[in-house]
Amino acid sequence: MTRGQTLRPFYWRATALFPGQEIVSRTHAGRTHHDYAAFGDRVARLAGALRELGVEAGDRVGTFGWNTHRHMEAYYAPPLLGAQMHTINVVLPDDDVEFIVEDAADDVLLVDPGDPFETVERLFDRFDSVDHVVVMGEEAPESDLPVHAYEDLLSDADPVEDWPDVDADAPAGMCYTSGTTGTPKGVEYTQAMMHAHAMMVQTPSAIGIDQSDVVMHVVPMYHVNSWNFPYAATVAGAKQVYPGPSPDTETLADLVESEGVTLTAGVPTVFIDLLEYADDHDVDFSSLERIVVGGSAAPKGVMRRYATEYDVTIDHAWGMTETMSIASVSRPKAGMDLEGDEGLDVRAKQGLLSPGLEMRVVDDDGEDVPWDGESFGELWVRGPTVVDEYYRRPGANEESFEDGWLKTGDIATVDEEGYFEIVDRAKDVIKSGGEWISSIRLENALMEHPEVVQAAVIAVPHERWQERPVAAVVASGPVAEDDLRQHLAESFPRWWLPDDVRVRDSIPKTATGKFDKKALREELEDAPTPYAPEER
Ligand code: AMP
Repeated sequence: MTRGQTLRPFYWRATALFPGQEIVSRTHAGRTHHDYAAFGDRVARLAGALRELGVEAGDRVGTFGWNTHRHMEAYYAPPLLGAQMHTINVVLPDDDVEFIVEDAADDVLLVDPGDPFETVERLFDRFDSVDHVVVMGEEAPESDLPVHAYEDLLSDADPVEDWPDVDADAPAGMCYTSGTTGTPKGVEYTQAMMHAHAMMVQTPSAIGIDQSDVVMHVVPMYHVNSWNFPYAATVAGAKQVYPGPSPDTETLADLVESEGVTLTAGVPTVFIDLLEYADDHDVDFSSLERIVVGGSAAPKGVMRRYATEYDVTIDHAWGMTETMSIASVSRPKAGMDLEGDEGLDVRAKQGLLSPGLEMRVVDDDGEDVPWDGESFGELWVRGPTVVDEYYRRPGANEESFEDGWLKTGDIATVDEEGYFEIVDRAKDVIKSGGEWISSIRLENALMEHPEVVQAAVIAVPHERWQERPVAAVVASGPVAEDDLRQHLAESFPRWWLPDDVRVRDSIPKTATGKFDKKALREELEDAPTPYAPEER
């Protein structure tokens, strides 16, 4: 009965019903425009070419590139053949890339020209499984590797016409967790999971992409399948915009304006930077209706500014690699009587669990915490878009899965209406004198200060209180550290206030653009803490 819960109907719907819809792509060679009919043909050719390279059902095709139309084609051709598409993060350190390719045992790699290709060239001797490297461009660089130019392969290929019936349970995708807390862990997504997640994104209770939308894919395609937007936008028949290699804010602002982008998505830092850019430049965001922000907590000040200055709604979403990205979105319920900033207070939470999923919030004794907006516990989720194991990591499986539930490692409260709020990552929790201090609440409050652009709060070891919060802040102008503490004192008890607020030029970030708290902890661990309280 699961027949058809695959990616094939997505490909069919897009190419049969919306052949004239546009796909815009910024590549190394400039901006290109295709339509869905050309996409259909190119996917069929890529599949034919992969077959000629020996790719069969069950094989794994790794991708190592930025957001382009070619990468989009690679999202389709391997799974349509019954093979698996494995995205690899192009900005990871060499050791991680080596580990991931070895662990996944990719058979073929599709690689962007430039830095990604150079990385593969440098590491190729250590990739035992890889037989072919396809460079996603017009031509392949001179190399000792078994390289092919993507466009040559497509021109020479016999397009696949009869797509096979692929089992809904066949692995179709694979990603690795970010790895900031240890060795990256692989997760596999089946055809049915990819189908289910894209359909969930499609519901208005989650994101609800329509054929009238113009979707710009800012979430890197190497990060949790770009939140599956390339699938959801395709099955919707929407115009799509792929911003290419390392897009800067100027590029993003230009694409919004020139392509009429209505919807985009990404981590908060991207849209904080875009606001800063807009402050100093003449931008036209009039087409933009919504930005889905997730991956880290969306700061309220940023949400307010987009709403009031640009009439853009921020849909705050939460998710993980293990939940195939988006698993909740926060919007006020109909009938909620909200005034002033109250709507924003609701939107700033991680929100209501998306349709198809179930959740619990569980305390240290395994009991569900009351939904009172105050009691903390670990968020557990389960459902058809949640993985139930890590690839070849039995130890990690025992820690993270129980009776079909994924123990997310996120610490949350739930209010009476069922909105959950992530107050910390379990590993980032600050425990001062046995009591929790929420780093995320402090960060949000710091970012409400008019001069603060970015803020990250971490725990540093403390002799008396075990741990104390220390904040790192990037400011847009001169700001006294005491002012920031004073600003926080308006909302938090004295013992919550960071012992030190460091104003810096930047805060280290992970390969996916989130604050790298591990690196920050290492930097600030021994920092003196001038305000350490004698009493809580
Ligand atoms: P990743 O698997 O790399 O996407 O990381 C998933 C983790 O990012 C989650 O477990 C959360 O800790 C964090 N995260 C994702 N979305 C949000 C959000 N909206 N607010 C706070 N943390 C988030």
